[in-house]
Amino acid sequence: MKQLYELLEDARDVVAEKMVPNYRLEDVYRAVVYAFAHAALREKGVGLRALKPLEEGVPKPLLAIAKGELLSKVHPIVKLVEHMLREGAPLLVRYETSLERVIEEVKREAGRADTILAYDAMSIIEQVIISAFLKAQGIRTLFLRTFFLNPQGLTRFMTSQLPASGQQTLRGVAQHLASHLEARQHNKNSTIDQKVHETGILGLDEFIKKVDISRIARQILEASEKGTTLVLSDHGYDIVLSRRGGYLYVVHGFQGGADVALLLLSRISTFMRVG
Ligand SMILES: [Zn+2]
Repeated sequence: MKQLYELLEDARDVVAEKMVPNYRLEDVYRAVVYAFAHAALREKGVGLRALKPLEEGVPKPLLAIAKGELLSKVHPIVKLVEHMLREGAPLLVRYETSLERVIEEVKREAGRADTILAYDAMSIIEQVIISAFLKAQGIRTLFLRTFFLNPQGLTRFMTSQLPASGQQTLRGVAQHLASHLEARQHNKNSTIDQKVHETGILGLDEFIKKVDISRIARQILEASEKGTTLVLSDHGYDIVLSRRGGYLYVVHGFQGGADVALLLLSRISTFMRVG
């Protein structure tokens, strides 16, 4: 059984080779989100109707890659995430819910870094796309083996583990990591989280339109040109199917209820070492 970081790299390679060189990054973003949502809907056996708004606007040949080669790489990721979040499931993966322990592991794997960039609510979907974008530019990115499990899908699950003496914020996490990895710079960015909160009930389709994926990718590219960069998030976001409306929307820290939790990516955050 492959580990999460290997599966992410497999999906990244398809995106880097088949999608990024030929299409706008905004369209690639839509197509990759489509593949994740498609795999999750299939996994739950609830039909694919809610995918219609996402499909619209994706160039046909790009959609064909998303439905074919990419879907076959994304499906095992969706299955592994489901498996990991099922309580008591035996795990073949390395994860931590303790911030201190995850930092130790990250330090062991990544060594040092020049810059730490923390993105509030960045999910593995954006990470796959950004890693593919960088790969297509000839820049190496590595998904670390260790990742952080955030069972609440909330920033405070991570930040409350920081020493009480400092700032218990995501910026504080970035600073804490910077001091462990001897990084000269650290920064945090809340743009994705803002969009999750802004568009919670407007749907996944609207959310993707609002997130400026090219801008985020360029920021990370620029940081990597100056030195090794570690990209992380506190949590991703959940993709939820509204039972009433039959549409998809995003939240983080989904608590259950009438709607169907399709993909609980708010509970997982991975680390990317760039450059
Ligand atoms: Zn938030």
